[in-house]
Amino acid sequence: MAKKQFKAESKRLLELMINSIYTNREIFLRELISNASDATDKLYYNALKAGQSGLSREELFIDITADREARTLTISDHGCGMSKDELEQNLGTIAKSGSLAFKKENELAEGDVDIIGQFGVGFYAAFMVAKHVTVVSRAAGSEEAWSWASDGADGYTVTAAERAEAGTTITLQLKDNTENENYDEFLQEYRLRSLIKKYSDYIRYPIKMEVSHSRMVEDSDKDADGNEKAPEYEEYTEVETLNSMVPIWKKNKKDVTEEEYNEFYKNKFGDYENPLRVVSSSVEGAATYHALLFFPARAPFNYYSRDYEKGLQLYSSGVLIMDKCADLLPDYFSFVRGLVDSPDLSLNISRELLQHDRQLKVIATSLEKKIKSELLNLLKNDREKYEQLFKAFGLQMKFGIYSTYGAAKDVLSELLLYITSAEQKLSTLDEYVDRMKEEQKYIYYACGESVAKLAVLPQNERLKEQGYEVLYLTDDIDEFTLKAMRDYKGKEFRSTSDEDLGIDTEEEKEEIKKQAEESKDLLGFLKESLGEKVTDVVLTSRLKNCPVCLTAKGGISLEMEKVLGAMPGTEEKVKAQRVLEINAAHPVFETLKALYPANEAKLKDYAEILYTQALLIEGMPVEDPVAYTSAVCNLMTL
Ligand code: ADP
Ligand code: MG
Repeated sequence: MAKKQFKAESKRLLELMINSIYTNREIFLRELISNASDATDKLYYNALKAGQSGLSREELFIDITADREARTLTISDHGCGMSKDELEQNLGTIAKSGSLAFKKENELAEGDVDIIGQFGVGFYAAFMVAKHVTVVSRAAGSEEAWSWASDGADGYTVTAAERAEAGTTITLQLKDNTENENYDEFLQEYRLRSLIKKYSDYIRYPIKMEVSHSRMVEDSDKDADGNEKAPEYEEYTEVETLNSMVPIWKKNKKDVTEEEYNEFYKNKFGDYENPLRVVSSSVEGAATYHALLFFPARAPFNYYSRDYEKGLQLYSSGVLIMDKCADLLPDYFSFVRGLVDSPDLSLNISRELLQHDRQLKVIATSLEKKIKSELLNLLKNDREKYEQLFKAFGLQMKFGIYSTYGAAKDVLSELLLYITSAEQKLSTLDEYVDRMKEEQKYIYYACGESVAKLAVLPQNERLKEQGYEVLYLTDDIDEFTLKAMRDYKGKEFRSTSDEDLGIDTEEEKEEIKKQAEESKDLLGFLKESLGEKVTDVVLTSRLKNCPVCLTAKGGISLEMEKVLGAMPGTEEKVKAQRVLEINAAHPVFETLKALYPANEAKLKDYAEILYTQALLIEGMPVEDPVAYTSAVCNLMTL
């Protein structure tokens, strides 16, 4: 019998498909099961439309049979079947979807039935594992059955066949095993079971397969006299339903216990701890989807490494199409686990194509909003849990603001927490702003190694004394994040070592200026004697008990210098432009004035000592321990 040719473009498309579109050949089973489920849906739907009831989902099961001898895998359904014409149309023309046509004809809105197919290529995935495919089908309401058969790209035949009832049976003659490829895996019970669990668990019809078990032969553990002996076992087979059928995310939230959600999360995402929060959301509109999201309680061990892969599971009407869809989550929410199920998505094949899916972008945008509002909700209503979450993942959010050059600030800034000088516990920026003094212009921050060290940092002394609150930043990223944000709700961030803290009165400013003018030569001399080490030596009013401190001019702060210097790979280390500030109200300043110009040698030693003290206070290494020691020794020598 003459073979019919696939339409020309179909032929090319088929080759393309088999060889490249699907990256993962195991999904053929998912495709065939989805088709069987679609066909059953259609039958069900048509029956409902015709006013017939009495069909039960249980009867409409999908059957999987593996014949290990013949090396065939058979998928059989009780669905609508296909007529001869439909076989030719649907399977003879690639990218022709009978399911899409069905949806259109019936003007189906989402939710009426869960038909998955619409792309018209899924069926051909069978050729990734099969060298020969036979489809025997009998359309519902028809007496005849037809058999469609093909070896792949070079065409197909359609011949008359027999089938007892309406429905479709697809038989795959698996490809021969090669050195590198073992197709027998698709005949193994265990493998099939796990593929069905993985991809088709939520198909709404039972997927049944004959599975073998072993059991003890009755009474075989006792001999004729009733004494114990080694029991005998026998193999038996049993038809089992392998899928659970109802997706937990489609159940009404009030019908699912917290315990069930937690178990689902732990099983599915391999965590041993309950999530901090479960978010179940159903959205209709620009995008229609169900999402079930989880906020983990702890960062996975590889979270802050390259190994960590972000992403949500992606389902199309209950069928898994991608295990980790990265495009659904922005990096700063990469800690969120969970899944999204949408009937809007073209059951779409490769990652490359999916990236361009407009629908996916709409869903991602809507998810981001949802995640943010849930985080804010947690922050407001369960502070303790939120703080736990922030301790685990806050760094990622801070990094999100920095890495987007501040663009993500609208999403993230309300979610940030910092320890502050006021209470030494975590505060939001809103809480800080609420506590700001009336005349306060800036949000003050200080960076350092630890809260304990920041709490005694001299440059914060005067601010704190006057009742201004200071954010204590201890993460490397912190200052970079604040710089990227610039301000929070119109209040500019300002480092406590900034030249102008905005707290001096005009008089105070004048006073300092006057003193600096009077001691101009002294300050010049000190600067000269410190040479390259500093850009400037100035008088300050920010200090109280401490004679000196070190600050920086320009964009790079001392803390940033430390962070950047610690990063690997930077050949030329960035240097902050250091400024030695001298407390104009400190007795040491009087001493300095008295020594100038009378005792320049001593003054030089003093400059060295004061500079080194400032370094120590900042937690920076002493640059020249020998010079420092000899300066101190000079002072001790009579
Ligand atoms: P899609 O499912 O995206 O429409 P497929 O390539 O998977 O594309 O299938 C093509 C068409 O073949 C389907 O739309 C459907 O009309 C028909 N078809 C496939 N499998 C079956 C089946 N088991 N029963 C009835 N029709 C089927
Ligand atoms: Mg399909």
